[in-house]
Amino acid sequence: MGMTDRKAQLAANLAKVEARIDAACAAAGRKREEVTLIVVTKTYPASDVRILSELGVRHVAENRDQDAAPKAAACSDLPLAWHFVGQLQTNKVRSVVGYADVVQSVDRSRLVTALSKEAARAQREVGCLIQVALDADESGRGARGGVGPGGIEELADLVAGAPGLRLEGLMTVAPLTGPYAGRQRAAFDRLMELATLVRRSHPAANMVSAGMSADLEQAVAAGATHVRVGTAVLGVRPRLG
Ligand SMILES: *Cc1c(COP(=O)(O)O)cnc(C)c1O
Repeated sequence: MGMTDRKAQLAANLAKVEARIDAACAAAGRKREEVTLIVVTKTYPASDVRILSELGVRHVAENRDQDAAPKAAACSDLPLAWHFVGQLQTNKVRSVVGYADVVQSVDRSRLVTALSKEAARAQREVGCLIQVALDADESGRGARGGVGPGGIEELADLVAGAPGLRLEGLMTVAPLTGPYAGRQRAAFDRLMELATLVRRSHPAANMVSAGMSADLEQAVAAGATHVRVGTAVLGVRPRLG
């Protein structure tokens, strides 16, 4: 496919997603500007990121450092905020801190320590969301990353006190197993409750990242401030990612 065709395709997909967000905001009595679209560009090339930027996208997300680092470098001239949304190993933290404005997948204290050290070293400030696993026990961990609800407060306090890090709020992925499987709205309502608790001690942490291509309406209805949409904008991914 040529660049012009790809741009027309991405523009059409983006318009459909924008219309869905508009409709979801209207149905929930929310203002459109209360919801930020993050386009998840994982597995797609830097040329797509560039087109999305030309089409007005300002937030993109990636989940693997190996793919994200060269892409972010190729797009460093663009006015984009980069979100890291994947499970993050501490040996990748130095690289991720080099380009990520926000890490949405903070789920353990060792990761907070590593992020803080590298952010301070790079003289950057990195926004952090605690990833909540709603398929985990209170004190457990999720199959796809994230900390159980019982672990949120401790991690939030740790991030808030860590040099180079800024606590922004909470993120979740609707669980495939456990009591919330297939119940996205209930899962996102639970995330909102947990976010309200966090804001009692950290009033500025008002970001709630929830909802993907299949369930962005439920996330907007629940009160999410950020939706992360991949497939509905870029197409079905060529491989798992
Ligand atoms: C891939 C991914 C998304 C986007 O999912 P789609 O179903 O393609 O919209 C959102 N959040 C995370 C954490 C992801 O890994």
